[in-house]
Amino acid sequence: MNPTTADLTNIVFNYKADEAGIFNNGHTVEAEPLTEGENSIVLDGLTYPFLQLHMHAPSEHEINGQRFPLEIHFVHKTEDGKIAVVGVLVKEGAANAAWAPFVAKIAAADAVPEDTKTELDWSTLLPTDQSTIRYDGSLTTPGCSEGVKWNVMATPITMSADQIATFTAAYSNDSRPVQPLNGRTVTLDSTPAK
Ligand SMILES: [Zn+2]
Repeated sequence: MNPTTADLTNIVFNYKADEAGIFNNGHTVEAEPLTEGENSIVLDGLTYPFLQLHMHAPSEHEINGQRFPLEIHFVHKTEDGKIAVVGVLVKEGAANAAWAPFVAKIAAADAVPEDTKTELDWSTLLPTDQSTIRYDGSLTTPGCSEGVKWNVMATPITMSADQIATFTAAYSNDSRPVQPLNGRTVTLDSTPAK
């Protein structure tokens, strides 16, 4: 990506600690809040309820030509179908305590979210620096509908090699190839949010 730079309005994350269901949908491992409507983001003045997060290995986005071992997608959708995805890149490093409850449930997850419950504090799953690279694009899953608001966190989070290996033992190569931007405008927030 060669982003242009602008001072974007920061995304507001209304995320809280919540009971989560961890499940394996046959394509990836997902986590969803078991109480609807408790978590949302505000992006450009619009509130998008949080639906679920899921993982891809390796990452579907590159920063400065670098691909990452994992990428997490936080998927949000309004009642009338507008979709905003927040992408979080994962690099190998220190073990990530916030993600530990999720990682611990990956191997046991079946297709039913209520079968594998854990407590997740959704807000702590994000990087501390929440400046984003944004573009309008498509979903990476089959269907690939246009009109998705993409927000990729410019700062990766770390997970330990063991944590990453727990994801890749369940799924690897569940990413689409890195997508060309096709002349889209990509904008990097010039003022990092803390
Ligand atoms: Zn995804």
